[in-house]
Amino acid sequence: MTDVSTSAIKIVPVEKSRFKPYENDNLLMGRNFTDHMLVCDYENGAWKTPEIVPYGDVKISPAMASLHYGQAIFEGVKAYRQPDGSVAVFRPEANWARLNVSAKRMDMPELPKEIFLDGLKKLLQLDSQWIPNFPETSLYIRPFMYSTDAFIGVRTSENYRFCIICSPAGRYYAKPLNIYVQDQFVRAVPGGIGFTKAAGNYGASMYPTHQVKDMGYDQILWTDAFEHKYVQEIGTMNVFFIINGKAITPDLSSGTILAGITRDSIITLFKQNGIAVEERPIDINELVEAYKNGQLEEAFGSGTAASMSYIQSLTYKGEKMTLKDVSEWTIAPKIKAQLDDIRYGRIADTNNWRFPV
Ligand SMILES: *Cc1c(COP(=O)(O)O)cnc(C)c1O
Repeated sequence: MTDVSTSAIKIVPVEKSRFKPYENDNLLMGRNFTDHMLVCDYENGAWKTPEIVPYGDVKISPAMASLHYGQAIFEGVKAYRQPDGSVAVFRPEANWARLNVSAKRMDMPELPKEIFLDGLKKLLQLDSQWIPNFPETSLYIRPFMYSTDAFIGVRTSENYRFCIICSPAGRYYAKPLNIYVQDQFVRAVPGGIGFTKAAGNYGASMYPTHQVKDMGYDQILWTDAFEHKYVQEIGTMNVFFIINGKAITPDLSSGTILAGITRDSIITLFKQNGIAVEERPIDINELVEAYKNGQLEEAFGSGTAASMSYIQSLTYKGEKMTLKDVSEWTIAPKIKAQLDDIRYGRIADTNNWRFPV
């Protein structure tokens, strides 16, 4: 593995920062970006020295392979302002490891850990004033990698770019979701790329998601490709159900589900709170039965962007199952509070999840 000490990162700072102090917590995540970005190119079989340069447009060839053949993967990470004013990133090493899982499946080069973690640290140190400190705000970090060969022809590319950009994220006013259980379109199949964070997974989900949004739902709960029976995940989130005081979530063995870092953290917190968790295939009919018996108590999606998004209703084959009001829930809100307290440095980090910048 290449050893990249932070001093090996080349820095070209902005002449004048674009930063203006935030007036409130209404920051439009994904629209505004910090002063700098990290770029690192892969050429002739090796990663070059990473560079931190002013954020800005990049020039690309119209023949750039990733535009045509989709060798493009990404990650989603967040940095949080801590009570003492310092900054901590939540489990970035897990994001680095998952980026390489995606890279391998997409036949892209694996990225050395030092480029990811040292590069991220240096970038955040440089742009630290951009990390907001209003309650429940954060800095969204988007690492991504794409093939850059200027070549039309289906083959594995030889050149790649890894990049990290950052966007201030405001308070997330999450209203409980109305979910449509998808039984026509599929997101992933065993042997496919469902377990990777590949851009193409999202490309394929746009049309079905648009359709259900037009029908008044917020998101799709995907089901398996063969029977449309086993639930998988929701849009950009993993999914959990609380049945009779026990937490259940689909297991990862089918290779069709993204191994969420929030999912993993929530499973750990459930266990540490003495709440039983089962990772196993979940038949939609089991959820319907539990609902009818009054045992489907809570349900939520999990992901970096929203941490936990509560589910108000699930509609399957025209039948709407409405869960009791979120104000009456006892389990998910408790775990969410713990997760957020760890992220924002309000409680001890016994699992070693905070990465100080
Ligand atoms: C990113 C993502 C998630 C959530 O993963 P986290 O690591 O918790 O942010 C879940 N499902 C899909 C399809 C994703 O792309």
